[in-house]
Amino acid sequence: QGVIIVQVRAAMLGEEYILLLADDRTEITRTEEIRNDFVANVSHELKTPVGAISLLAEALESSADDEEAVRRFAARMHKESARLAALVQDIIELSRLQAANVAQEGHPVDINDVISEAVDRSQLPAESKNIQIVIGGRVDAKVYGDQDLLVTALRNLIDNAIRYSPENTRVGIGVRAKEGLIAISVTDQGEGLSAEDQERVFERFYRVDTARSRHTGGTGLGLSIVKHVISNHGGEVTLWSQPGQGSTFTLRLPEMEGQAPNAKEPKDAA
Ligand code: ADP
Repeated sequence: QGVIIVQVRAAMLGEEYILLLADDRTEITRTEEIRNDFVANVSHELKTPVGAISLLAEALESSADDEEAVRRFAARMHKESARLAALVQDIIELSRLQAANVAQEGHPVDINDVISEAVDRSQLPAESKNIQIVIGGRVDAKVYGDQDLLVTALRNLIDNAIRYSPENTRVGIGVRAKEGLIAISVTDQGEGLSAEDQERVFERFYRVDTARSRHTGGTGLGLSIVKHVISNHGGEVTLWSQPGQGSTFTLRLPEMEGQAPNAKEPKDAA
């Protein structure tokens, strides 16, 4: 049907329009492909914990007399259901993001509030690995957008920094304002990423080590949520990393006009 419309319009409107409409159609087909891939990936990802829970329930039924086995199976069921809940939560977050219209429904958001809320919420996982979160610098500036989504994005970066770093290390949060952009960076002393992985980590469900990510509670969706949130706010996310030397993820967001940037040099963002 689309092809017929393109042909009729092409006959009426000339070559320039032929190209334009043909391009639009390619874009629609590509979006459909991405959506189909996503549905296939989601089904696959959901099947793993659901299958595990079902097997564990069977095992529980048949070992009702063995107290130790019951405890073991119940603990594993708990873990798998937590994983399922995290996955469902991230999938909902991603679809909410696709429908969100931050440009029209946002509010002025203080960047310091975003940082302190995200850091507060990451404190528990950090403590469990004795990782210190160090905030360097302060910028009294606002961005236009959705505070909850911005906190979610930054928190995903901090949680990853903690998840992929050894115990007793530091995670640095740096912030600065320059040429109308606010940059927030999250630096870790973790395992880092190869050049090849750096190109792919923002893809949905891409993980360098699937088993490890699952084991530590990752869903493979964190960075694609970050990317969506930031592009919905008219910004971008970049990554610097060296295997074995850690990573720095940087969010750049347009500063709200009428706010004078008041950046102080970060003291310690390592
Ligand atoms: P996950 O839920 O698996 O953490 P993400 O989308 O957040 O999914 O990240 C994708 C993959 O990128 C992770 O599985 C991990 O392999 C890699 N990764 C993300 N952040 C870091 C980091 N700070 N250091 C090293 N590897 C990272």
